[in-house]
Amino acid sequence: MLKLSDVRITYGAGVIAADGATLSVADGQAVTIIGGNGAGKSTLLRAASGVLRAAGGRVVGGDITWRDGRIDNRRASEIVREGIAHVPEGRRVFGNLSVEENLEAAGIVLRDRAERRRLIAEAYERFPVLGERRRQPAGLLSGGEQQMLAICRGLMSKPRLLILDEPTLGLAPLIVKQIAASVKEIHGSGTGVLLVEQNAAVALSVVEYAYVLESGRVVLEGPAAELQASDDVRRLYLGAG
Ligand code: ATP
Repeated sequence: MLKLSDVRITYGAGVIAADGATLSVADGQAVTIIGGNGAGKSTLLRAASGVLRAAGGRVVGGDITWRDGRIDNRRASEIVREGIAHVPEGRRVFGNLSVEENLEAAGIVLRDRAERRRLIAEAYERFPVLGERRRQPAGLLSGGEQQMLAICRGLMSKPRLLILDEPTLGLAPLIVKQIAASVKEIHGSGTGVLLVEQNAAVALSVVEYAYVLESGRVVLEGPAAELQASDDVRRLYLGAG
């Protein structure tokens, strides 16, 4: 299980991006963090996967544990080997590399070549369009296809927990549905999911449990169905009057 306890995070001296945040993701559970712009959602994801430092941030209080070991301020390259993969916001793929080269590069974490081949085949089964375009530069894919590739890159390390930051941002409704269905399917196959989504309705339809973050702390939490029914959540995050 991933556990953030009373976590405090700063960027440089001035910005406090997490201010006593506590949340957890049990093995194989699907969880979302919802909250407005600047609430600190991406920051918590970065802290969990270890990419926080590269973004100029630092965990200065509380602790983060993963399967009983402390991981706060550890390197991302170590954390990914221990089973946490992070698909960052903005579908970062290598635009000049082909689809297949992108997957191979992400699979470098695995020593076993045959296993890498198997995972690439699995990616093409999950999203056939990636298989059709395997030789094309990733930069020529549509936004939705790049997001599919980014997710598959995350899966190339065989994570126990897949962290997804805004996977549907800017995508057409039909593609949003497709991405949401694939996240559900990934979770259904036993992988834990920690999801941040601008679209709270989509997030709550995919996960089991949700946290609401405001100014770097959790102000509300509960099973997704309960939060979907909450008047405050509906008014503030689901656009209901
Ligand atoms: P959004 O949906 O707008 O991305 P968020 O909830 O993910 O919001 P964060 O991106 O985690 O929020 O930002 C939390 C706070 O930390 C904000 O005040 C933001 O300006 C600041 N912040 C985020 N990244 C950095 C950074 N690399 N350097 C300095 N400050 C940052």
